[in-house]
Amino acid sequence: MTFVVNLFSSILNLQSSITNQQSSILNHQSFHEHRLSETLPSATIYLMNWDLLGHDWAVDLLREHVVKGRLRHAYLFTGPQGVGRRTLALRLAQAINCPQPPSPGEPCRTCRTCKQIEQMQHPDLSIVQAEVEGGTLKVEQVRELQRSLSLTPYEARYRVAILLRFEEANPSASNALLKTLEEPAPQVVLILTAESAEALLPTIVSRCEVLRLRPSPVEQVSQALQARPGMTAEQADLLAHIAAGRVGYALRLSETPELLEQRRAWLDDHQRLLAASRVERFAYAEAIAKDKDALRRAHARRGCVCCADQPGSPTRYRRPF
Ligand SMILES: [Zn+2]
Repeated sequence: MTFVVNLFSSILNLQSSITNQQSSILNHQSFHEHRLSETLPSATIYLMNWDLLGHDWAVDLLREHVVKGRLRHAYLFTGPQGVGRRTLALRLAQAINCPQPPSPGEPCRTCRTCKQIEQMQHPDLSIVQAEVEGGTLKVEQVRELQRSLSLTPYEARYRVAILLRFEEANPSASNALLKTLEEPAPQVVLILTAESAEALLPTIVSRCEVLRLRPSPVEQVSQALQARPGMTAEQADLLAHIAAGRVGYALRLSETPELLEQRRAWLDDHQRLLAASRVERFAYAEAIAKDKDALRRAHARRGCVCCADQPGSPTRYRRPF
């Protein structure tokens, strides 16, 4: 019951967040799928081959670790989904293992190793994550990872394990990973990502070098999006605002029409509910509460209107919906 009441309350709170954006939702069918790096001038936005929008300080730090041989055994990249945590992790894995860096600490992005890492298919790269976003990362997955990390690298300099959305790990999985962090194997680098350090066990966080990633300025994201073919300034501005400066999420919105459709449907519902009776609002809240999968997907993607406006909260679920 508390859940439903909170849900009802959150519907009311949404009143202030419903804006004229709804009327200008994009004709996203016209978007083209291109990587930003293919369309943007390198200029100041992108840092060489790390190919990231923003996070300059993080790239500088990690590049220095690679160049000076000061790699940590474990890193934790935190920040809201879509901010670039996974991309940064992959770039670090490439920078560590690229056999032909064009300059110190820069992955070439074109060799076989870099391409395999980009596609998350390199034999010395392990990707560990819950089966679905919003699901549970299980202890068996961590144990399987530990077995592979105990082997020497197959062909790269380092074995790299990227554990995505580690806040989804259950307590057994967290405790199992703790052992690996306490007894780090040589030639192994672990990279965890999470919404916030506070969502993880303090004993895990204390064994990682923590890099807290923030959303980029909306104007910068908009500028980057405008370089994409077929993207108008108005469309780019809208996506950048909806994504609240998370360039990864902005790209997903532009490339996944159903996300925008879903958002528009939710906005329609909420606008209609503003004029609805209390009984209708509770009925809606109850129906939503029963659809656990939809709720999980909405929260995991931060695609629901309540979450999209507040990226970076330290808690896993800020509101019940
Ligand atoms: Zn390379």
